[in-house]
Amino acid sequence: MHSLDNGNVVHGNITWAPVKSLWWSSMVAVALVGGWLTFSWAALGLFLVTTAFVLLFGHSLGSHRKLIHDSFACPRWLEYLLVYTGVQVGLSGPLGLLAQHDLRDYAQRQPDCHDYLRHGSGFWKDGWWQLHCELRLDKPPVLAIPAHIAQDRFYRFLERTWMLQQVPPALLLFALGGWPFVIWGVCARIAAGVTGHWLIGYFAHNHGVMQHTVEGAAVQGHNVALASLLTMGESWHNNHHAYPGSAKLGLYPGEWDPGWWVLVLLKRAGLAWDIRLPGDCPPRLELRVHAALPVAMAQAHRPWRATVGAIISASRQLLARRGQLVLEGPFVLLSEGAARCLVGSRVRPQRTPSRSRLSFEYGDQMVRGLPALLIAAGTRNAFTAAAALVLLPLATLCELARSQVDA
Ligand SMILES: [Zn+2]
Ligand SMILES: [Zn+2]
Repeated sequence: MHSLDNGNVVHGNITWAPVKSLWWSSMVAVALVGGWLTFSWAALGLFLVTTAFVLLFGHSLGSHRKLIHDSFACPRWLEYLLVYTGVQVGLSGPLGLLAQHDLRDYAQRQPDCHDYLRHGSGFWKDGWWQLHCELRLDKPPVLAIPAHIAQDRFYRFLERTWMLQQVPPALLLFALGGWPFVIWGVCARIAAGVTGHWLIGYFAHNHGVMQHTVEGAAVQGHNVALASLLTMGESWHNNHHAYPGSAKLGLYPGEWDPGWWVLVLLKRAGLAWDIRLPGDCPPRLELRVHAALPVAMAQAHRPWRATVGAIISASRQLLARRGQLVLEGPFVLLSEGAARCLVGSRVRPQRTPSRSRLSFEYGDQMVRGLPALLIAAGTRNAFTAAAALVLLPLATLCELARSQVDA
């Protein structure tokens, strides 16, 4: 993006945008009424899976990390596939989304900008504005979209037809499960995706932790830790304001970033390369960093047998309530106090900032992540031990997948 003309991002009028407003309202109405009438567990499951899929592969990886910020390289067919999946979120066409994002990015970095562009009004007013209205700036800045994107025939086609792109999945879902699947797999998914996009935009510019400050900017980004999994890592928005070109959004210990995990898997499969990290972004004089970045970007590769072995032997011993345990970690997502409530008296949570993940040492072995938390909670009593044993296989699988991704 290049600024060709400064323009003015402060003065403008908010006007009702009929297409945007009716699109969102009708999806929400169908989702609420139709969803109520056609509820089934299968339909709910379909809604959850399709929503997570389009947010992860489409919005986070395709639209945001690739199309908008070009933070990694991949084959053209994969880029098209990811961006097409991003259009399925139902926000707008790819070029419209890019233009809107560029304008917000540019405006938020200026000393002042319109409240619409920085989510600066109250909650309800911002909701009305973002979901039903548009901002007409008196003198908008001219921000050029790179020609290879603006001239791309596929993207231009998607831009003209983005609403119609819901028809192919709707037909497929109708064939598979009739109207309930269409209502839950298309309308409810769009209603949740578009509403969620506004909600996270609102909170990520108003509430949450800040590890960086961009001096002289009209608004700062905030990290909304609770939404990290729901947003596929997009809610680490303070990090994103600091390093817009980084493909990795969760930068600090404990910052879960599913989009990044998938990107690393794509890289392993040879489908992504030239992945940009904060160190690859141009230095910014206006950036103040309040926390030292963890330097270890490379992982300590552990064979899967060691991970499984450590989990099994530690859980056998500890669930039999033998031995004391110190649970160490950064305690970012889960506070130390909450951990203390969760685990029994045989476990002592201890904040260790140098540990990037929740873990405990057992003999000469180390158990990390979700299995560590489950085993710790399992030492509490017979019920928590039984629950821990039931959940441990799944947690072990997650941990194995995770240990293949990053440390
Ligand atoms: Zn922002
Ligand atoms: Zn961005």
